[in-house]
Amino acid sequence: MGARTGSQFLEGLRKTRREIWVDGEKVADVTAHPKLRGGAQSVAAIYDRQHEYAGECLFAAPPSGELTTVSHMIPRSKDDLRRRHAGLVRLSEGSMGIMGRTPDYMNMKFAAFASAPKVWAGADGRNERGARNIVAYHQYLAHGDISLTHTIIQPTIDKRTDSKVTGTTAMVRKIGETADGIIVRGAKVLATLAPYADEQTVYPGQPLPADAKEFALAFAIPLDTPGLKFICRDSAAAPGADPFDKPLSSRFDEQDAFCIFDDVLVPWDRVFIDGDVPIYNSMRETSYAISMTTQSTIRALTKLEFAYGLATRMAELIGDYSPATTEMLGELAAYVRLTANAVELSLEQAWERGDGVWFPNGAALEPMRSILPMWMPRVAEIITLIGSHNLLTTPTRSELADPRLRPLLDEMLHGADGATADERAQVFRLAWDFVGSALGGRGFLYERFYLTSASRNKQMLHTRFFDRTRSQALLEDMLSRGRRAD
Ligand SMILES: Cc1cc2nc3c(=O)[nH]c(=O)nc-3n(C[C@H](O)[C@H](O)[C@H](O)COP(=O)(O)OP(=O)(O)OC[C@H]3O[C@@H](n4cnc5c(N)ncnc54)[C@H](O)[C@@H]3O)c2cc1C
Repeated sequence: MGARTGSQFLEGLRKTRREIWVDGEKVADVTAHPKLRGGAQSVAAIYDRQHEYAGECLFAAPPSGELTTVSHMIPRSKDDLRRRHAGLVRLSEGSMGIMGRTPDYMNMKFAAFASAPKVWAGADGRNERGARNIVAYHQYLAHGDISLTHTIIQPTIDKRTDSKVTGTTAMVRKIGETADGIIVRGAKVLATLAPYADEQTVYPGQPLPADAKEFALAFAIPLDTPGLKFICRDSAAAPGADPFDKPLSSRFDEQDAFCIFDDVLVPWDRVFIDGDVPIYNSMRETSYAISMTTQSTIRALTKLEFAYGLATRMAELIGDYSPATTEMLGELAAYVRLTANAVELSLEQAWERGDGVWFPNGAALEPMRSILPMWMPRVAEIITLIGSHNLLTTPTRSELADPRLRPLLDEMLHGADGATADERAQVFRLAWDFVGSALGGRGFLYERFYLTSASRNKQMLHTRFFDRTRSQALLEDMLSRGRRAD
């Protein structure tokens, strides 16, 4: 099949009898439910978008040559990376970067996983079957243009003991096996996009201790697998709202769900790791984290560019050219430029990992995982500070259209430099939906934690990823000068 259209995607969602709970209700059809319909339509629009921008978003996937989305690509050159980059930018523009987990996010990870079967197999080939399964699964994803959700984080029960893992019953673990596959039980967080996914995936996140064999699992199963249940967070959607009034929450609530595996059978051909802790802990060697950070930084860049445009227009509409506001707009511009520089540098310094597979330079992108979770809340704060009470003096479309109110709003709630009451209301409503609505609050939490907390990312950057050679050499040079002076 290759790249699906939006209507093919929606048809797929309707076919699976998934167990999705939202606000206390078990939802029969996520494409029709008032609290989920908007998100389904927006993901469908992303599927349509890849055809609309086919030159950037699609490529002829080997070996069949069928046209599928660039996020399934296993890049074989720098040109491939640039091509994929252009497609990812187009896809992110579909939600202005507000939906973080559009299907390209997971596609990128599985393409990287499948590019490194040797890592899955282990040095002695002891997990050959898992390696074959992951390669076949990637081809299945590309051919069916499947939408994935994922949960790789253990639910928090007691932070003093959670890292030991063993002995807990809350976390997903293998509890048995049959001729057909393994049986898993437990929970994982937090399945973003779950209502709009065809399949659920579990794969290595944080490293496991050597004795945690039953937790060392990687697998993928259809969303309608018996025993698989998703409890969504409170909906941030705006059912039935006019898109003028709630431009973002009427469209872009991608949902997040607590995922329960209640004695779930995973067929053998969908098991990628079965109890092998060393292989589980070696997944970084596939370079999948680079692919993940590539997609997420491109998506974040689009969101930053959008936010800069929004904040600038807000200031213009109220004639705010004060030094304080101009400085904050400059701060936003700096975030945009720095993020763009990181993406560009990563492409410029692309490298071949081996077996002819190319990746952007991960070192250029890695710091974004520490810094974007701090910049994004600041972006929301800047929009709030520029907006002030104007974020709340925003008549709805129906109020603007009401002849009893319209002349008064034209007289008393227009913008600076001849801006109309409609334009002012539209922009400030958009800004409030961005920072102040339930969706805005969820966006804040998402940006803080979706690639683990900034705190953990900073610790990892310092202890594991950063090459300190030059810093240490500079220090040594200075110290030796001091010694020479003695
Ligand atoms: C909206 C949203 C969507 C998500 N979507 C997904 C998804 O689709 N799939 C998925 O698998 N996961 C998803 N996640 C889960 C996400 O990966 C986790 O929330 C993330 O890893 C943070 O985990 P944690 O709560 O254990 O945070 P921690 O990393 O434990 O951070 C929690 C707090 O502890 C502090 N902290 C962290 N480390 C230390 C330390 N060493 N010492 C002291 N303090 C520390 C932090 O500053 C922070 O305030 C999502 C999360 C959110 C909020």
